[in-house]
Amino acid sequence: MTLNVGIIGVGTAGSYLGALLSGVGTINVKGYEGQSKESYISICAWATNKDMLDGYLREIDLHSDSYVLAEARVLLVELGGIVYEVPVENLVTIDKPRLILDVARKFEVEYSHRISRMEALNNGIDVIVDATGVSRGIIGKPTSGDRMLPTYQLLVEYGEPPFEDFYVKPFSRYAGYLWYFPLGGGRFFVGAGDAFSRHLTFLRDFLDKHRPTSILWRGGRSLRIKPPGLLRPLIADEGRPIVAVGEAAGTVFPILGEGILPSLESARILADAMSGGDYLDASLNTYVDVMERRFSIFRRAYRFVSNKQEGTCNMSSLKCIADVISLSIFFLSKRGRKLTGIAPRLRHVLIAVKPF
Ligand SMILES: Cc1cc2nc3c(=O)[nH]c(=O)nc-3n(C[C@H](O)[C@H](O)[C@H](O)COP(=O)(O)OP(=O)(O)OC[C@H]3O[C@@H](n4cnc5c(N)ncnc54)[C@H](O)[C@@H]3O)c2cc1C
Repeated sequence: MTLNVGIIGVGTAGSYLGALLSGVGTINVKGYEGQSKESYISICAWATNKDMLDGYLREIDLHSDSYVLAEARVLLVELGGIVYEVPVENLVTIDKPRLILDVARKFEVEYSHRISRMEALNNGIDVIVDATGVSRGIIGKPTSGDRMLPTYQLLVEYGEPPFEDFYVKPFSRYAGYLWYFPLGGGRFFVGAGDAFSRHLTFLRDFLDKHRPTSILWRGGRSLRIKPPGLLRPLIADEGRPIVAVGEAAGTVFPILGEGILPSLESARILADAMSGGDYLDASLNTYVDVMERRFSIFRRAYRFVSNKQEGTCNMSSLKCIADVISLSIFFLSKRGRKLTGIAPRLRHVLIAVKPF
């Protein structure tokens, strides 16, 4: 029996999932993307780990090298007026919209078609995949609350760039940070996200101090930081499964806001689950279980930043100390380095976890 899978939203996760499923003989996959192919945009700072990305792309015969715009030498981190040079491993910016469009060439996609839940349910699709990112346009908003980080970003040009490398300035209480990422050819993304909505003020201060030669684009969107395990990625509507993948399933690392690699990982977990078994319900439940296990560090990070922001994380809280230890180990681990693209030494981690 052929399974009809409809992927709603062909962005980071949706495109990769479609490409992976297109090679499975028993699955018929089609994507629906709200934006047009000609003017496809992705509001994101486009930073990722080139090697990790390559691991995913090789599975569909693409290579990360073809999409690199700029490569970091170090990450400049400004904390308390001091700029630290944090070592990096394969941290790059990529041409993300071009990559998504290339990945999406591997299967049938209908562009300029924004789908509603009702339309998806009446479309003869056996499995509806919600890959609509932050909107969760099909599976619906989480019933037990969400946690969003408002962000804003500008694409700018500098004749004389204020920094030679990738630069970030974290805000107090792990509420977010300002970023300045090179894109090559004198272009940069300058943006900020802040849980207390001070990001526009911080951004204005930065741009007043470092005036760009020109502003080419500006825009923003919220970022979901509630992780898998707290955000259930599977429901049934009229007996039809609706399964979320990518940011719709909570795959954003709550401390750094990274979602590209985790979204690809969630797509791979879903593709593995769906192509492995004959029993759809069992496959989808396997996906839910694996997501919860694979992203357990995201729940720690979420609890840590939530407690920090609410002012309940201090040295007398055992829960908070346990989180700090787990997260420090993660940042120093190979997995942490690969996921974040940075390779901090112990002294950097100690500075970063210090309550500031
Ligand atoms: C300002 C900002 C900067 C960021 N910077 C980074 C970074 O540098 N590195 C990093 O790793 N992560 C970053 N992230 C996070 C990352 O961009 C996302 O988490 C990741 O791209 C999510 O992938 P996704 O596939 O779930 O969603 P998306 O890539 O957003 O794809 C969702 C797709 O669904 C489409 N869509 C939505 N609704 C419908 C509908 N009803 N019908 C049809 N189509 C629909 C959209 O047009 C879009 O193409 C950033 C996020 C923000 C907001």
